Amino acid sequence: MSMPVSSGKPENYIDGAWTPPQGGQAYQRVSPIDGATALGDFAQSTPHDVEAAIGAAQVALGDWSTLPLAARARILSRCARNLEVRAGELALRMSVETGKPLRESGPEVHRGAAVLDYFAGEAHRPVGELFQQSASTNPVFTVHRPVGVIAVVTPWNFPVAIPIWKLAPALLYGNTVVFKPSEESPWTAQALVECWAEAGLPPGVLNMVGGDGSVGKLLVEHSAVAAVSFTGSSEVGNAIRTTCSAAGRRVQLELGGQNALIVASGADLERAGEAAYAGAFFSAGQKCTATRRIFVHHSRLDEFRTVLVRRMESGHVGDPRDPKTEVGPLVNARQFAGVKSGLEQGLQDGARIVSQSATPDRGCFFGPTLVEGARDDSFLAQEEVFGPVVSLFGFDDLDDAISRANDVRQGLSMSLFTPNLADVALFTRRAQAGVLHVNSPTTGTEVHVPFGGIKASGWGPHEQGRAARDFYTESITVYQDA
Ligand code: NAP
Ligand code: MG
Repeated sequence: MSMPVSSGKPENYIDGAWTPPQGGQAYQRVSPIDGATALGDFAQSTPHDVEAAIGAAQVALGDWSTLPLAARARILSRCARNLEVRAGELALRMSVETGKPLRESGPEVHRGAAVLDYFAGEAHRPVGELFQQSASTNPVFTVHRPVGVIAVVTPWNFPVAIPIWKLAPALLYGNTVVFKPSEESPWTAQALVECWAEAGLPPGVLNMVGGDGSVGKLLVEHSAVAAVSFTGSSEVGNAIRTTCSAAGRRVQLELGGQNALIVASGADLERAGEAAYAGAFFSAGQKCTATRRIFVHHSRLDEFRTVLVRRMESGHVGDPRDPKTEVGPLVNARQFAGVKSGLEQGLQDGARIVSQSATPDRGCFFGPTLVEGARDDSFLAQEEVFGPVVSLFGFDDLDDAISRANDVRQGLSMSLFTPNLADVALFTRRAQAGVLHVNSPTTGTEVHVPFGGIKASGWGPHEQGRAARDFYTESITVYQDA
């Protein structure tokens, strides 16, 4: 398959115009499919560009924040339609840039549109709570005000869905935004910003500054930024939290996970095996909610292993633009090196490979890998290796399995496969994760319900659904006497 010719441009989007960065500095993005094809030159922003973007967002705030919610919602709806019209093109950009297979990148674009439609609908729901005062019949009520200029800093693994589930509520509730997409997915980010711009967003309301992490750092440290919403690695997220806390700046973090799937003795093993395959290996394991550890009741362990290995043998690993492909390459060579060394560390600690799928011999492909024999306190069990590597463990008692699944720093998602309601009750009471799945994979989130981790996986209010308003607005209480 020949690679598409990139229409990417080395420009930022500031104050309603595509603008080259100061000094015209650019970097090249190479596709992980072959590790060679250049996808174009993209902007490497400077402090001057960050200042200009924040300045534009400050100026735009006055008019934007005083529009009716419904007027802002109309722009969200138009952006959703623009995304749908360009869905095929956006999905292809995402696939060649990040390696995500089309069978996932296509649905991700449509999910982005659904998130926009959901938040457009929020414009017509209650905007506060009305009470009566204690000593009179006069009202006391809450209103929600925008926070101000928001910095949105995002990773490459969901380059449409994650920016949209931050931008949609930020803009709906009357804030203005400076958006720093990942340096790995600038071409997708450009299309996304074009969809917003063509929806009729006034200049300065949404600005994008491209480039590496230094651009994100300038943004989150800027005194005119009122709040930071970040999704990415724990290392970067924790540094941002320290910066923002010291400055009294609102901050929301969505970080990694070390997610477990537990298979109880009565589980349907075909369904559990399919969920394990999809959860561990789709998007080459590069999802924060990906399955990293599988705990199976000893009475079913041999049978489960057979089912999962068979599924791995019939899996489709290859070019992400082939509609049959289930697993594409990792996003870049650095990520490949990290996954390789993570697996090697696991093997040194005593784990062994049970099955590893073959891959094309080029680009950043890493074969889906199942290991067994890792100790609960070993590197592979404890640390997030951001790729298609999953560890299998046996257990005798479900309560004990949940304790072991909980015994990591992170708490993002967890699954239990069982037909037994008593198991479900125990799991719902004890499992330490922000998202629990019963008889479904650790991955997958709905647009209209809260999403976010507990423990070291998250900080601040959850995202999506009605939870989003808690972060993107300030709640004010009004005592109104005549
Ligand atoms: P990352 O390196 O932390 O990058 C995330 C974003 O932060 C990128 O835009 C990055 O810029 C920027 N950045 C880097 N250093 C920065 C700094 N010092 N200050 C401000 N911004 C900075 O993460 P990633 O490698 O892109 O993504 C993978 C990680 O994200 C995994 O650990 C995964 O678990 C986590 N993740 C979590 C969720 C969730 O919802 N919980 C979802 C997806 C991913 P660059 O362009 O230079 O990278
Ligand atoms: Mg990075």
